[in-house]
Amino acid sequence: MSCCKNLVVLKFGGSILRSGSDYVRVAQHVKELVDAGFRVVVVVSAMKGITDLLSLVASSRERVKVLKEVISKYLLAIREVGCDGVPKGQLSAFSEVSAELAKVAWAIDVLGEVTPRVRDYVLSFGEVMSSVIMSLALRSQGVSTKWFTGRQAGIVTDDNYGEANPIHEVSAGLVRERLCSLIREGAVPVVTGFVAGTLDGSVTVLGRGGSDFTATLLARHLGASEVRLYTDVPGVMSADPELVPNARVIDVMSFNEAMELAYLGAKKFHPRTFEPLVGTDIAVRVTSLHTKGEGGTLITEEGGGPPLKAVVVLNDLSVVSVVGARMVGRLGTAAEIAATAARVGVNIIGIVQPVSEISISLIVNRVDATRLVNALTAIVRKGVVRDVVVEDVVAVSVVGEGLKDPRFVSEVINWVSEEPLSIVSWYRGDVSLTLTFNNVDKSRVARILHSGVLRYG
Ligand code: ASP
Ligand code: MG
Repeated sequence: MSCCKNLVVLKFGGSILRSGSDYVRVAQHVKELVDAGFRVVVVVSAMKGITDLLSLVASSRERVKVLKEVISKYLLAIREVGCDGVPKGQLSAFSEVSAELAKVAWAIDVLGEVTPRVRDYVLSFGEVMSSVIMSLALRSQGVSTKWFTGRQAGIVTDDNYGEANPIHEVSAGLVRERLCSLIREGAVPVVTGFVAGTLDGSVTVLGRGGSDFTATLLARHLGASEVRLYTDVPGVMSADPELVPNARVIDVMSFNEAMELAYLGAKKFHPRTFEPLVGTDIAVRVTSLHTKGEGGTLITEEGGGPPLKAVVVLNDLSVVSVVGARMVGRLGTAAEIAATAARVGVNIIGIVQPVSEISISLIVNRVDATRLVNALTAIVRKGVVRDVVVEDVVAVSVVGEGLKDPRFVSEVINWVSEEPLSIVSWYRGDVSLTLTFNNVDKSRVARILHSGVLRYG
């Protein structure tokens, strides 16, 4: 059910909210869209870097110093926005919010501890202050507006602090109730990204980068036609331009491809961004202010465009392999190796075992490799495995729906047939294929794979 026609949810990320003039630019852009007949909901992140500072307010002994830094950054932004025509009440909203944050920081200092619940509350202030400033900037442009925390806008979550889970059945009705009539009157709700709350009113956050998720949740509940994620790059790129000079903006892609890029760390979407939109025809556009929200990358459930979309270099990985004939046919070896990794806090990024069972290779972050090798050496001593070997590798993933077809998998492998390939990681249905190489220049393999990708369009 749609709240109204022509509704777009615009999310402005921290990367483009660096100073007061950025808020003014965003507000002018929103005004243009409103004047052009769009109904608009604005979702804002905290200013660039603020959430990191707030997590220091929660955890560091320097909290008072950091707190002052946060408040002075926002005060400077308010001053730059200018407050012509803004009612006094709006300005005092900011003072109230900063006084509350100071109180919380003081309480943490006194108690000497931060519960997860208090930590979420502290983190929420970045978005709250940002939305107060955004609504000031909009008002200065003559746009009728009202700001909401995510919870006030109706997003209800469980109490899994730090990474709370939205409860859709409750949120759907509330969001419509809180926002629809305002939107229909032509006003622009400004909603804090990232911040939500439990049914009984505790503040929660949706996990780092969560403003994307807020935007798609609101779009789903309001039946918007499009979500626009504004960033400082022109769209989702086909590769990192620093490594691959002819990287370009991807025109269209599917939710699956976009999620894969997020999981691989190539694009910093919140991992759950697309979840609320599955089964709807709401599109996401990753775009920038420079293009006035046009162009960029259009992401829809069905996607489209060329079969292969992007090449991603996964940096600083190593492969730790355990080898030994006594592993063959022995039950529990893989379990023991995986349990050892878990015990020493090493995340297994990839895992390969040939069917002969003669070895097991784990792809891990390079910083973890030595720790893992040391822990596995204990198993060597027990005599089950003969040796533990570690190698630094370059891992490159190719992403695209086309990879569901195994013919593309063999084709991609062909492109790098001259290179020292060590591991191929792919499973039927995957929309990415990851290859690791020993002793190669990462930019060279990325360029080879990328030119292959470009041959398809
Ligand atoms: N401010 C939060 C963060 O830095 C949420 C967001 O920007 O999306 O993670
Ligand atoms: Mg983000």
